[in-house]
Amino acid sequence: MITAPKDEVVKCNRCGFCLAACPVYQATGVETKAPRGRNSLARALLDKNFTWSPETRDSLFQCLSCRACVEACFPAVETDEIVISMRSDYYREFGEPWLQRYLFRRLLPDPRKLSAALKKAFLLQSGARLIRALSFLPWLNRHLLRAMDFLPPLPDQTLRERWPALMGEQKDQGKKIAYFGGCAFNFALPDIGLATLSLLLKSGNQVFWPEHGCCGLPAYGHGDLEGARIMARKNLRVFQDLDIEAVVTECASCSSFLKKYPVLLAREPGSAEQAQKFSSRVLDISEFLATQTLSFPQNHQTLKVTFHDPCHLNRFQQIKSQPRDLLKKVPGLQFVEMPEADWCCGGGAGLNLANYDLSMKILQRKMDNLQRSKAQVLVTSCPGCYLQLRHGANRNSMAVEVHYLTEVLARVVKTS
Ligand code: SF4
Ligand code: SF4
Repeated sequence: MITAPKDEVVKCNRCGFCLAACPVYQATGVETKAPRGRNSLARALLDKNFTWSPETRDSLFQCLSCRACVEACFPAVETDEIVISMRSDYYREFGEPWLQRYLFRRLLPDPRKLSAALKKAFLLQSGARLIRALSFLPWLNRHLLRAMDFLPPLPDQTLRERWPALMGEQKDQGKKIAYFGGCAFNFALPDIGLATLSLLLKSGNQVFWPEHGCCGLPAYGHGDLEGARIMARKNLRVFQDLDIEAVVTECASCSSFLKKYPVLLAREPGSAEQAQKFSSRVLDISEFLATQTLSFPQNHQTLKVTFHDPCHLNRFQQIKSQPRDLLKKVPGLQFVEMPEADWCCGGGAGLNLANYDLSMKILQRKMDNLQRSKAQVLVTSCPGCYLQLRHGANRNSMAVEVHYLTEVLARVVKTS
């Protein structure tokens, strides 16, 4: 039975204002994949007037969790949260796939176990060509195979293994901050993580990096709410005794979810207070850097740069001007706004892994808008968006460089 609060579901008056805002509806034209249709399904579930079918299952699992519908909706119906509740109910009824459950309950909360598992995956990745050669087998997920093209090759060393090399830049003075290095940077994109750490050190901070696990958003987004709570409780324990002023991360998805811990753990008296204390210190990197004095050198390049708003930055945290203001300070970059900069890139909630074709259709709208902006550099601040946009630029053979915000800043910011 659906656990989405009935009060939320019945707020939907079926007006349809959300239809123009939903990237999935705009790409498919299918009402059950629109916010209004998803809310009608939730209502039918509540009224026990419903049976599951492949179409209704798709309605649940083809939502990007982008919250564009909430922004467009007069009563602000939280359709993304209703969908997540329905996913949770779906697993309660039909069971969660064992591999997904193992990932969310065992591997992601434990960075050492995850690291060991990924080293084995490194070997698997080397055999990816073999997997592709077997793609005629019906049980191999066609979407997953195609999505393998945009997943980066796993690096030889994790960010955690490379971090000690930066420790020489650490000073005994400055703001004490903790870095929350999302799984994507630790295991797949360590160069970006190193750029972030170096930027934090260059701007005069003392940086600590406790051994934490995943923030929990992947589990939450897929409807494994207990999996998300396990990760949250564990992270709270890791950070509770640290004498720090802020917890900073360059991952928009991590920062938005770490700020949500008080809601996630609201019914647990012991953890709720601890979560409140922790989350009040969490800052996304662009929020944190907006409070810092950064020194930039002179340079004479004039490249047009634009910014793609990750949904978890813009809609979940209302952070819109800070990354733009930072980019405008970089000498030689001329900021241009792209049409629909906050339209989801199509990678939200792992849609690119679950339904590659639909995800690419949504991505194409972003790429067309990028072309219209005439920008030569596209910057973003969420690892999921970054990989998706890079894939989009390659697919369209565009002469556009796709970069991460901290990469761009770390290259030019001088030590203060
Ligand atoms: S979700 Fe909001 S905008 Fe969409 S139909 Fe319901 S009330 Fe209208
Ligand atoms: S969260 Fe995004 S994809 Fe999901 S229903 Fe709302 S607008 Fe559509």
